Amino acid sequence: MRFTRTKAAVAAAGLALSLAACGGDDGGGEDVEVAQDAEFEAGTTMAEIAERGTMTIGTKFDQPGFGLLGLDDVPEGFDVEVAKIIAGAMGVAEEDIEWKETPSEVREQVIEDGDVDLVAATYTINEERAQRISFAGPYYVAGQQLMVAADNDTISGPEDLADNPDMKVCSVTGSTPSENIREYLANNNQLVLFDVYDKCADALGNGQVDVVTTDNVILLGFVSESDGEFKLVGEQFTEEPYGIGIEKGDTAFCEFINETLADNEDAYIEAWERTAGEVEGTETPELPEPAECA
Ligand code: GLU
Repeated sequence: MRFTRTKAAVAAAGLALSLAACGGDDGGGEDVEVAQDAEFEAGTTMAEIAERGTMTIGTKFDQPGFGLLGLDDVPEGFDVEVAKIIAGAMGVAEEDIEWKETPSEVREQVIEDGDVDLVAATYTINEERAQRISFAGPYYVAGQQLMVAADNDTISGPEDLADNPDMKVCSVTGSTPSENIREYLANNNQLVLFDVYDKCADALGNGQVDVVTTDNVILLGFVSESDGEFKLVGEQFTEEPYGIGIEKGDTAFCEFINETLADNEDAYIEAWERTAGEVEGTETPELPEPAECA
């Protein structure tokens, strides 16, 4: 089945404060503030980016509400908007951002290889990943849940999966949900893995799988695009704090990102409301307290 890819509605918002705002709105996003006079200590990542005037940012291209490629080939969503706020604080306007699709499995690698300046991609902070990269944030806390066809009354939570070993569960390679779900399965054959979540949603739509599992807010995006064909079941059974992935040990960049988000809480809320907040069932978050940068 095919999903219609709706554009996030663009809310009118006042442009604020002392920094000049500019940059064309080419889809989904409101203009974000772009610092005109940002100055940074020589040798920092911020100074290098401000001097360069461009950024390469990793995000998802298939996740409605967070990072979904629009018809104009530019991704739209909350992660995209959060990344634009960070870029703007270094004087980088949205037209000077190159977006790189980063499926779950490649996120650490693209950061280690220096292919991107940062990754904003529904990226759960955890210890295993933090051995290879550093995280700023968290800037949002999601939780894992299950999505099934609207007429499926058999599965009402992860505990029902082992009792129904013929039912296939789909998730994405390299994601935390694909690992967390294993303890609930009858066996590993029950798990179907793709590289991106919209393949799981398509597989659910055409009956190749019975359940899709990942973070609740990602699933809600697919439910909202399914025209009543999909629903979420059960409660969330994990916590998934989303971080901004950066090069390991770049503490100054991490602290700068955390300060930028704290200084731009209004823009953060507005970003939510015109992206993920448009999806039925989501709630406007408060910016979480950042973890210590390491
Ligand atoms: N937040 C989870 C993770 O980072 C699932 C979403 C995703 O795969 O991007 O693995």
